[in-house]
Amino acid sequence: MISLTTDFECGHGKNIEKLGEDRFRLEVDGDKQQGYSGGYCFDLINEGPAAEVTVELREDSKWGGPTGFGVAFPTTTWIKPVGFHRFRPLRGQYPEWVEGGLTLRVPVEQGQRLRVSMTYVAPYSEISENLREFAAQRTGRCELFSVGKSVQGREILGLRAGTPGRPKVFCVAGQHPHEHAGVWGVLGIADFMSSLLPEAERLRDRLDVVAVPIVNPDGNVAGRSAFNAERLDMYLAFGETPDAEEPEAHESRLLWRWIGEERPALWLNFHCYTGWQLNSEYPFEGWYEVEDHGLFRDPGQRRLYEALCDTLRLETDAPSTHERASIHRPTTLCYQMARRYGIPHAFYELNNGTSGKHAATLRALNVFRRVVNTLLHHTDTGRGVK
Ligand SMILES: [Zn+2]
Repeated sequence: MISLTTDFECGHGKNIEKLGEDRFRLEVDGDKQQGYSGGYCFDLINEGPAAEVTVELREDSKWGGPTGFGVAFPTTTWIKPVGFHRFRPLRGQYPEWVEGGLTLRVPVEQGQRLRVSMTYVAPYSEISENLREFAAQRTGRCELFSVGKSVQGREILGLRAGTPGRPKVFCVAGQHPHEHAGVWGVLGIADFMSSLLPEAERLRDRLDVVAVPIVNPDGNVAGRSAFNAERLDMYLAFGETPDAEEPEAHESRLLWRWIGEERPALWLNFHCYTGWQLNSEYPFEGWYEVEDHGLFRDPGQRRLYEALCDTLRLETDAPSTHERASIHRPTTLCYQMARRYGIPHAFYELNNGTSGKHAATLRALNVFRRVVNTLLHHTDTGRGVK
């Protein structure tokens, strides 16, 4: 007897049908028809002998037409026995989009409960536990931090490391909840900044770094692709009203208020992309900028922002997808932070399909090191700080 369920933290998929003893079909559950059109994370529970299970993944039927899932499926499907500490790739299968869906063939051992996922999942419970462990074990080097509580009452946890009074660097991920590589990346920055590495020690003397890996915990736990519990997109934070005093989503308002009060010198925002077929060359990452650098009214801040754009273009893998930056619209936090507060951003898209936990950490750490290097140069030379 084999069953399939998505009823667990970060589970994603609906309308599950059992087509035969070893065959299932389910639909992804997208928040938008394009862009955030689905994902998958399900468990196969095998109460019988070892079997190869065929799983047909279909587009979300509620849109009544083709969705972005047809181009935004990954190069890697991740599997792990539930309870085991890590995922590994499902071997020997290069996913192809055939007749409106993907078909996976998944070997499941006798008596096994196997998790199968589009991303190397970063569950809120596990990330929170990691942050608490860092804070408990690395006293004097870091402390636990919270932006506040989500709509459903979950703490939006982070780690703070550095020296009060030094330039603040605010690192976040998980605005779009299933972009898990970004979450691993920012957890990696928290790990690095509270570590004993010589470079981390030097940076703790010169900066005040706050790293919040999951800014949308309710969306993470519910396995959403774009929304928070209010069904709002935290990236397009100002919805249809870019001139509104505050962003729409509760969690975005918490971030916005913290930023307004604390005025970080730099905000790092990690997102992810999963598709690959329309991209340029491995590892298929990307970045966003504001088009109008005149949003930074202070010439020093404008120069710092342009140096950060140079950093992402020349010192990271950001150009590997589109070769040029995508553009932040006026409804985003990045745009409004630039316009209203003159705070620059580094907005980086890790590829969920070509990085798991480890690669995401290394790629995010590279971005962090390079942009912080640029920031400190401008701080030291007085070019970028008012
Ligand atoms: Zn995103």
